[in-house]
Amino acid sequence: MNPTLSTPAGMDLQQGLEAPALLQPLPASVFADRAARFERLAHGHASADWLAFLASVTRIQHELLQQHPAVPLPSDAQREQSIRHGMPVVPANGWTRDPIWRRHLAHLAGRLQSMAPEALQPVLVALTNADATELERLADGVLRTEYDPAHAARLPFIAAALQVYWTWIAAQPALAGLARLDVPGVCPCCGSLPVASVVQTGTHTGARYLHCSLCNTEWNLVRANCSTCGETDKVSYRVLEDDDGTTHDVVRAEVCDDCHSYLKQVLRDKDASADPVADDLATLALDILVDEAGYLRSGPNPLFIPGDGGN
Ligand SMILES: [Zn+2]
Ligand SMILES: [Zn+2]
Repeated sequence: MNPTLSTPAGMDLQQGLEAPALLQPLPASVFADRAARFERLAHGHASADWLAFLASVTRIQHELLQQHPAVPLPSDAQREQSIRHGMPVVPANGWTRDPIWRRHLAHLAGRLQSMAPEALQPVLVALTNADATELERLADGVLRTEYDPAHAARLPFIAAALQVYWTWIAAQPALAGLARLDVPGVCPCCGSLPVASVVQTGTHTGARYLHCSLCNTEWNLVRANCSTCGETDKVSYRVLEDDDGTTHDVVRAEVCDDCHSYLKQVLRDKDASADPVADDLATLALDILVDEAGYLRSGPNPLFIPGDGGN
């Protein structure tokens, strides 16, 4: 494949009627569906081994979420105060993390040792041996998207463990009914940036949601509205196109010529099994081309953190 960029025409759809402001993650399926999607995307892909490995990581996230113990949630007073001030309720930066996330990490690192490629073995050993202070420091960096390049190889596993913990919280009934924040581009539950946006199918066909890179909450944002600066006039789309003219229309980049940012959009009406995290990592060729065209990606995917390759 030698993909180029093309601008699709006439792809905009109707905004879904009465789409709820917020969709909580579904614990039974969020990671299980993602793992299945990683497996499907791995077939015939140039990065098949990596995507298949991420399927394993995600399947363990699913198992951890199914057996997640109850951990402290914000009190009613904390919740009401956050909502009154338009702040996220369980902020990635500021919420006192329960140490359970480090147990998730130890479980992940242990389970993955038998299936990880040789190059990752020292990384998994280093994670197993790291002390709590070091792990909490690396977690702070992941949650602020200030990645320590010297430990880049460890960070996706730390992110995966934090995702399990925050997804458990985000799925609780106490977190239902949150409104969108004044800043439309951050998660109302945890304040993180979106990994991508998702155009829904099914009940909310056509409605566009931003998908949280940490807690898997989705929040509604009207279509063709830049999630970074709110502009609507200068938003356009880029898709990958093969040499033979075949376009890849499940994932497109929504680029803004006002703030020069972009975020990918995953179209579930084209493929109902498309997943914002898995489809993002299977289309890094699109990021390369959009980066080269001068746009800066606005939201992270912490399962992929480039760096010095240290462990
Ligand atoms: Zn979130
Ligand atoms: Zn913008």
